Amino acid sequence: MTCVSIDINHCGYYNPRMRRIPCIAIIGAGPAGIAAAIQLVRYGYKPMLFEKNKPGGLLGNAFKVENYPGFPEGLSGIDFAEKLSAHLKKYKIPVIMQEVKSVVHKKGQYIIEAEKKMKADILVIASGTKPKRLSLSLPARSLKILSEIYAIRNERHRTIAIIGAGDAALDYALNLCRYNKVILINRRDQIKGLSVLSERLKTEIRNGRVKYLRNAVITKIEDATDGIYLYVRRNSLKKYFCHHAVLAIGREPALDFLPRSFLKHFPNGNRSLYFIGDVKNGDLRQTSIAIGDGMKAAMTINEVIESLNYSKLLKGKPNLDPPLLKGNPNSDPPLLKGKPNSNPPLLKGE
Ligand SMILES: Cc1cc2nc3c(=O)[nH]c(=O)nc-3n(C[C@H](O)[C@H](O)[C@H](O)COP(=O)(O)OP(=O)(O)OC[C@H]3O[C@@H](n4cnc5c(N)ncnc54)[C@H](O)[C@@H]3O)c2cc1C
Repeated sequence: MTCVSIDINHCGYYNPRMRRIPCIAIIGAGPAGIAAAIQLVRYGYKPMLFEKNKPGGLLGNAFKVENYPGFPEGLSGIDFAEKLSAHLKKYKIPVIMQEVKSVVHKKGQYIIEAEKKMKADILVIASGTKPKRLSLSLPARSLKILSEIYAIRNERHRTIAIIGAGDAALDYALNLCRYNKVILINRRDQIKGLSVLSERLKTEIRNGRVKYLRNAVITKIEDATDGIYLYVRRNSLKKYFCHHAVLAIGREPALDFLPRSFLKHFPNGNRSLYFIGDVKNGDLRQTSIAIGDGMKAAMTINEVIESLNYSKLLKGKPNLDPPLLKGNPNSDPPLLKGKPNSNPPLLKGE
């Protein structure tokens, strides 16, 4: 998709009645951030949506999404990501293609440091997860060790090792083994992934397209011409060549840009700070949940703004500290008052 460059001063703009509309920033244009952006635009806000990589987020790596209601035939992750981008385009929502490096909260506003510093009154964090790393020293060619498959999805006739045996590992193996030889390396005895994926994997193992190593521990990684060697200990130590290795050994929240104090004081956000999607969902990482979170955050933000007569508050002096930093909308949003919070605590899980 073409990402439009925008005048960031459009944010916190004045509407025709000269009321200042709060500036909302969203970090991450995966399913959660996109859902929030679309709904906010439908309310008439103009959110700033930051993305460091590609709109659509992790979905770009998924082989086939078969559990999203309404698509009984399933949808490839890439098609899904493209549909999300098309939805942004339809609503003319610009994506600021910049990595957010840091966020600080000062005088009632969030100062977001990307290529420039920008200010927002309300911040939505939809930054998803980052891969866990192997606790091994990596060789010079560590570029051959990937944690997503987007870059190699068109590779043919290669040997690709997948490290892990959860849903993502199985999805990668089933995707890549169509045109390559896959070695799936599981340090455990059992496969952890969904049974429907395990069954498909068994077929590919029988067809010889996937070599499956269980109770297998990688002890060393070494450079090779055009690839790397993995030293794998099972009953004995064996060396395997692969052109690429893909790590799928778990993920953790991508929150490096956020000060620890934020998380300490507002682990579930507050009325000006929202965590949505995989970044806060622990093991419950699914597209439909992320999209639901985005929708819920947008509706809550609108409710908060309306209930505080926010635009009036902002007229003149845009300081939202007192009304917004009180309370916690993720656990007790105005819309859900009285209902228990079913959100798992941030950073838990994995
Ligand atoms: C192999 C695989 C298969 C999957 N299959 C399915 C499936 O079949 N069904 C299903 O429901 N789900 C599936 N998922 C899970 C699904 O992809 C995620 O649940 C979903 O993408 C989460 O959306 P999100 O918006 O919360 O996070 P993400 O999709 O991770 O998006 C976060 C976005 O934030 C951006 N970002 C992060 N930090 C910054 C920063 N500092 N500055 C700017 N941008 C930033 C990232 O680049 C990314 O685009 C699969 C995942 C994988 C890996």
